[in-house]
Amino acid sequence: MADLPPLRDVIARHGLSASKALGQNFLFDEQLLDRIAAIPGDLAGKQVLEVGPGPGGLTRALLRAGARVTAIEMDTRCLPALAELGEAFPGQLTVVQGDALRIDHAELMGGEPFAVLSNLPYNVGTALFVRWLGGEAWPPLWTSLTLMFQQEVAQRIVAQPGGSVYGRLAVLAQWRSVAKLAMKVHRSAFTPPPKVMSAIVHVEPAAMPEGVSARLLERLTEAAFGQRRKMLRQSLKGVPGAVEGLESLGIDPQRRAETVTVEEFVMLARVLGNGG
Ligand code: SAM
Repeated sequence: MADLPPLRDVIARHGLSASKALGQNFLFDEQLLDRIAAIPGDLAGKQVLEVGPGPGGLTRALLRAGARVTAIEMDTRCLPALAELGEAFPGQLTVVQGDALRIDHAELMGGEPFAVLSNLPYNVGTALFVRWLGGEAWPPLWTSLTLMFQQEVAQRIVAQPGGSVYGRLAVLAQWRSVAKLAMKVHRSAFTPPPKVMSAIVHVEPAAMPEGVSARLLERLTEAAFGQRRKMLRQSLKGVPGAVEGLESLGIDPQRRAETVTVEEFVMLARVLGNGG
């Protein structure tokens, strides 16, 4: 096993002061990083896409676990530290400099299955999450997503119907995947500490429900939760056939979006896709 210098030394030697503009909050606790790298299960010999490795804390945990890591990092200042890490684990690490939002991940990973792990700034993390879970093609090339979010966002992703945190993100994450809250991470674990608590969400793809278009489902949840305080018969007015579809399924149009289960949204999308 490679003998690595403490992460704090790496940061000091390469002058990697955390940039607020790039949403940088680093993790230094190697035991915690090993626990995060273990969330997807045994990674030995597996392909991993890591977005935002920064100075490489999570990256070294993934490499120790035997993963073949491709890491996308925007900040050029981090590249020398990541190159050193690559030398300590020959043939296991590929670093790509760039914006993960502008890179085709499937192409980057050579069309082979890969697990995704990432500790990203909130806005980039949510945008990538929505992209990874969207689209008609299913199952996706990724085998799991293990992602750090603000705790409040993590709770929205795993939310069940009936509360104010249940919304589009929950339906998106649960209609053809299983989403779990894997670990809470205290703000003091980060340098510098962010204002709020964090949590890691782990998502694995499940079977694609038959006869359901992702685009139609997204349209339904957008309309329903766009006016979440209104009754469905009002909020879904703009989606042709939706109110009739509710009635044909025995779903009371007087209900509000936050009471509608993921399965009910899926059934409604199927009915609409079949012409109502
Ligand atoms: N993974 C490291 C850790 O856990 O200590 C760093 C985490 S830090 C919260 C987020 C990292 O993502 C930073 O290194 C930042 O430069 C990088 N980053 C921010 N936006 C990015 C983007 N659009 N594409 C790729 N990397 C990005």
